[in-house]
Amino acid sequence: TATAVPAAAAAPDTAAYLNPRLPVAQRVSDLLGRMTLAEKIGQMAQAERGAIDSEPSQITTLALGSVLSGGGSTPADNTPQGWADMVDGYQSRALATRLHIPLLYGIDSVHGDNNLIGATIFPHNVAMGATRDPALVRAEEQITATETRATGPQWVFAPCVCVTRDERWGRTYESFGEDPDLVRQMETAIDGFQGNGSTDLAGRDHVLATAKHYAGDGDTTYGTSTTGTYTIDQGVTITDWKHFSTVDLAPYVTAVQAHNVGSIMPSFSSVQWTDRPGSTPVKMSANRELLTDVLKRKIGFDGFLISDWEAIHQLPGDYATQVRTAVNAGIDMFMEPNSAPQFEQALTAEVRAGRVPMSRIDDAVSRILKAKFELGLFEHPYTDRTNIGTVGSPQHRAVARQAVAESQVLLKNSNRALPLKPSEKIYVAGVNANDIGNQAGGWTVTWQGRSGNTIPGTTILQGIQQVAKNVTYSADASAPTGGADVGVVVIGETPYAEGVGDVGNGHTLNISAADRANIDKVCGAIKTCVVLDVAGRPQIVTGELSKMDAFVMSWLPGSEGAGVADVLFGKKPFTGKLSVTWPRSEDQEPINIGDRNYHPLFPYGYGLGTHR
Ligand code: BGC
Repeated sequence: TATAVPAAAAAPDTAAYLNPRLPVAQRVSDLLGRMTLAEKIGQMAQAERGAIDSEPSQITTLALGSVLSGGGSTPADNTPQGWADMVDGYQSRALATRLHIPLLYGIDSVHGDNNLIGATIFPHNVAMGATRDPALVRAEEQITATETRATGPQWVFAPCVCVTRDERWGRTYESFGEDPDLVRQMETAIDGFQGNGSTDLAGRDHVLATAKHYAGDGDTTYGTSTTGTYTIDQGVTITDWKHFSTVDLAPYVTAVQAHNVGSIMPSFSSVQWTDRPGSTPVKMSANRELLTDVLKRKIGFDGFLISDWEAIHQLPGDYATQVRTAVNAGIDMFMEPNSAPQFEQALTAEVRAGRVPMSRIDDAVSRILKAKFELGLFEHPYTDRTNIGTVGSPQHRAVARQAVAESQVLLKNSNRALPLKPSEKIYVAGVNANDIGNQAGGWTVTWQGRSGNTIPGTTILQGIQQVAKNVTYSADASAPTGGADVGVVVIGETPYAEGVGDVGNGHTLNISAADRANIDKVCGAIKTCVVLDVAGRPQIVTGELSKMDAFVMSWLPGSEGAGVADVLFGKKPFTGKLSVTWPRSEDQEPINIGDRNYHPLFPYGYGLGTHR
């Protein structure tokens, strides 16, 4: 599949950086010594694939270091081969540069290789946290790494190691949970992506990981800004150092020191210190103390920092000021999806004017090149498609199904409602019982996710039908009688991502009127009534709980809905434990384990086993 590399005035074949037997540090310094300022600044720029498709390619003309696919930015041919062809096409443009420095392709594989139709889609992180199974999380990301790398991208913007402290946040489901210790345990995710040590990275089964979003993204203060919009996603973490370091920073110490994470993405959010008089909110991309003094120097992070999507545009001042502030604060690579040319121009001028030291540029570029050498891209720039046939394979889906089963949390089980028996007459209600788009949630094929038949897989209803022969389904619970033994009502949310899902921004933790009506109809008409919640966060069910015999948190299970049936019918035990506190009402938020007045509906860590 290799494309011919055009001969250009290049370094001789004997150049040290081309010698795979030399230590990475030596190859980096050799290459750095050959690069012009323009080539160095090019390495620091990352563009969106949709913005660079015209020829001659910006990848060549601007010597871009990286390209990303934002959520939903897929090739027209959204198949494994389509992806690999696309990434290899961009790679050939990078190899056409003078020094043939390969391109790093980044993508949000946050619950499987989720932009690709046909990939194995795992439960979102909040569900993986409920499994309390670090080995399973590692297995998940090993599979995600394999599927992602076989289809081109060598770098993922995952895992999110955010600690969610307020479920009104629209990214709650991207978090492993509200307890920093749980998040730290789940950082086996990084080993799944990267393997053990830097030698694994060069193989076809691994990708470079990104711990995100540094730091405090899940711990911002809910409120209404002066412009009337709700602020929680991309908001301000108002806190003191003690809380910040134990809750928000702790996962990064582990990510760096125990898992050697390759890259870290600073958050859109700001920090404001309550223990420093006069402190005002500072955006993370401008926070030199937290990026350079704390993360790079004190914690010892030797990978590279990638800014979030146009995050630097939120900094004060004109564009040149924004670029200068962020580079000097410690950002190494810039996600400038639509403005790579402007970025390179601005940074070049800042360096020439002496406002950004050359040592900072060399440090940033060295960190980026180190990752490229470790990934083996200089030796194998094109996609190794050996594993392409494993994408969405039964073996991979079996692991996802196991993850679904282990993540189910049994919150109520009275009258021996569960497990169900295959011989029972089962009446299933609710849209979310049979909507694979809803059960996958946000970050699935598109950024926000979408209802409907978006990906191949098994819905919860189909999983139930594989076990029980006598199943009736009605989305709106019409005529829920007919002598059914048990009713299964599936309630929940429809897909959203990031700030779009914030409570106050059109979203609520309260269940919908349609879901409440379904519970009333089914639980009123059928003797035994089981309710499943397919959602990215707890929903308010305080008024409905007494109507249910059993209540299960199913989270956002992804493509393998049969894993839900596995525990409903007792083929596997319920072992999941809540990764976040379940509030009685929306205004109980923020509510977290350790709070002084802690009276939730279900506490953090709650989860029953199945009893017969
Ligand atoms: C999100 C990041 C994501 C990036 C690239 C941003 O909007 O905050 O989590 O990695 O987009 O898609």
